[in-house]
Amino acid sequence: MRDFNVVVLGAGGVGKSALTARFIRDVFIENYDPTIEEEYRRTLQVDGTLTSLEVLDTAGADQFNAINEMYIKNGRGFLLVFSLTQEASLREVEMLRQQIYRVKGGSAKVPIVVVGTKLDLVNEREVPRSTIQELAARWGLPFYETSAKRNWQISTPFEDLVRQMLSRYPVE
Ligand code: GDP
Ligand code: MG
Repeated sequence: MRDFNVVVLGAGGVGKSALTARFIRDVFIENYDPTIEEEYRRTLQVDGTLTSLEVLDTAGADQFNAINEMYIKNGRGFLLVFSLTQEASLREVEMLRQQIYRVKGGSAKVPIVVVGTKLDLVNEREVPRSTIQELAARWGLPFYETSAKRNWQISTPFEDLVRQMLSRYPVE
């Protein structure tokens, strides 16, 4: 069994805790305490390899704080989370992406997936698919559109991340 830790990063209120809770326990939590930062664990089988994932649901307010820097140093894979209903949260992802490459020494091989949340809130959507396609191509990163509430596409980004980590960190 392979053991990986992944860090969930993104602006406040985008749905990091809801996404994590749906993935870990298959529940939807409406009002998760925004200040709670917690580590969870579950197993996930990807392409025949059983992995144990430690998922850190962060609650940092400032993307340039020293705590984030420490998480990035220690993290092997990253879920960069924004809300499809909040264009500004995508800029936070852009800053986090740059911070990760800076901390990791500019390697383009850092396992990262970008997750857009709240896909169910169709009428509040602010980030069009064309923007996502353009950024995915420019950054060379996979994007996923999800809903923790409706349980849409929750495991897929984690599976993608595991594939990237298995390839980036072959058997120790
Ligand atoms: P965090 O600060 O990034 O951890 O965000 P939370 O997980 O606490 O979610 C912030 C708010 O968005 C809460 O009111 C959630 O109920 C709501 N939310 C999170 N994910 C979804 C989703 O997929 N659909 C909808 N409709 N609301 C969501
Ligand atoms: Mg939270």
